[in-house]
Amino acid sequence: MGPAFGQPMDSYRAETYGQLSIIMFLFLLQQYFETSCPRVQIACDNQSAVDRVLILRDSKRPQFPNDTLQPSWDTLQAISRHLRLLPKVTLIWVKGHQDKNTPFAKLPVLAQLNVRADKLAGKFQHIWHHTYPQPLFLMIEGTGCNLMIDGETITSKHYKNLLDVRRTANIKQYLKKKFSWNHLSMISVDWRAYNLAVSNWSPPTAPESRSSTFLPKFLHRWLPVGKHVARYNPNMYSSFCPSCSSNIIEDQTHMLRCPCRTTWQRDMKQALISKCEKLATDPILVRILIEALFCWLRQSPFPATTFSANYQALIASQESIGWEHLFYGRWSTEWDSCQLGYLQDREVTLSHKNNGPAWASQLIRVIWDHCHAAWLERNLARHGADAEHRKEIALAHAKEKIRTMYALRPLCRLQRHRRWFHASPEAHFAIEPHLHQLQAWLRTYGEMITAISRRQQRMNQQGQMGIAEAFERLYNL
Ligand SMILES: [Zn+2]
Repeated sequence: MGPAFGQPMDSYRAETYGQLSIIMFLFLLQQYFETSCPRVQIACDNQSAVDRVLILRDSKRPQFPNDTLQPSWDTLQAISRHLRLLPKVTLIWVKGHQDKNTPFAKLPVLAQLNVRADKLAGKFQHIWHHTYPQPLFLMIEGTGCNLMIDGETITSKHYKNLLDVRRTANIKQYLKKKFSWNHLSMISVDWRAYNLAVSNWSPPTAPESRSSTFLPKFLHRWLPVGKHVARYNPNMYSSFCPSCSSNIIEDQTHMLRCPCRTTWQRDMKQALISKCEKLATDPILVRILIEALFCWLRQSPFPATTFSANYQALIASQESIGWEHLFYGRWSTEWDSCQLGYLQDREVTLSHKNNGPAWASQLIRVIWDHCHAAWLERNLARHGADAEHRKEIALAHAKEKIRTMYALRPLCRLQRHRRWFHASPEAHFAIEPHLHQLQAWLRTYGEMITAISRRQQRMNQQGQMGIAEAFERLYNL
């Protein structure tokens, strides 16, 4: 029971660290008493860690520089070197978690010891929540050299870690600025859960191939909602929400908060609760999650004080990242720590699904499934469900756009009034009632009228008089 150092930390590294600590203890004992160590058997439940050490111990050839790139080389070389000096110490593999199927008392001694060791390791993790301080300089004797990134000693996946640093430096800077994060918020995001969710998510229903672009656009708030499309096409695309038909600018936040999404919100809540149950999630974490999502949707403050002190670190951490980011998969690492603590307190068997990044990533994916559904729902409202409905909506859009064009008529020169426009939009629709006629008119004149209005706006900014203003009397004739 105790800390293991080095990054990335996985069970392989933790097991080799455990092996090293007991072997070093025996070795120092032998040195101190100046006698040879008695027969000792060390058992470890990670087979590849045991195999690797034994291969190194029995190897006759010298070590090559490339050998040092093996995962956890620093611990492996130290274990194998000291094992050679302790001839009576043997290292064997024992199957882990044997108490799953057999009562503890009936297990052989080594299996019992393994179960107890696992419990102790779990207890340590629960106390420290993966947050114990790392040494400033970690160099196990005989290692020769270490790779250090941002003050952390990298003991495996060297190439990938170096690439990641190079690739992610700019994007981290960008995210910090975009979300007004400080350094602490940035590093408290559970990026492993985020990455897992991104690589495993696919649209639950894929009616169109464009769905594959949904996630990156959604995560960076670049879905083509009214606000964004109207920005580069202001006269041709309405910036208002198509669902609630109110004069609210439709951005991605409104897409989720729209009052027309109540059924959608209820479905998401149900789906999350049932997924949490399947994953043996701490009921208080479920409450915090649901409360947080819905407070954000309702634009009300999160009632932090209604939760016990054990959860305040989580609440503070997620608040510094932003509650909205629960929708975007940027969860605090504290979620996982609380879940792990809950499982260990109740002695629930840990699996790769009920805790760790995989646990959070599954919940994130449920949220994304529903955000995708909200997007499809919004697209139906904007573009229609069947051919007839689509035509109806397109006709209404074309009329709305034409009305906008008519509003810009005073900016155009007088002779164009007669050539381009009818007496009024209503007269226009009576003369050219069909969708294809309206669209043809928009294609012919829309861009020119938009360009004229832009030019006029620029002139106004420069203090020049507009055509309508100059010829107001003429225009009124
Ligand atoms: Zn709306």
